[in-house]
Amino acid sequence: MTMVMATSTSTKATARRKGDGSAPRQSRAVLRDVEPGSTVECALCGERVKFQAKVRHRQVICNVYVNGTWDRVEHFHADCYEQAGEPHGPVDTTPVVKSRARAAEPKSA
Ligand SMILES: [Zn+2]
Repeated sequence: MTMVMATSTSTKATARRKGDGSAPRQSRAVLRDVEPGSTVECALCGERVKFQAKVRHRQVICNVYVNGTWDRVEHFHADCYEQAGEPHGPVDTTPVVKSRARAAEPKSA
């Protein structure tokens, strides 16, 4: 009889809150490297957020939600986002890839 209880317990543990529909319905900002070929403009200063090989620029990408609905994406230079007073909340600096500990040492091409 105790086996039945154990089964229901494991079922409960399987239920996870993370999933496709669990994205927060509010504006959020993430820090990303600027990609080559980027053509976006900074929402604060209006200048191109452009890739430069020698300088590892960072950009802040914001998913802007209005009234709980996704509205648009805004890009900022990392510095500009700070200057703007973090209009879309604190920047999430969590790397996309987990194994990014070596990112601090760019390898010479
Ligand atoms: Zn800017």
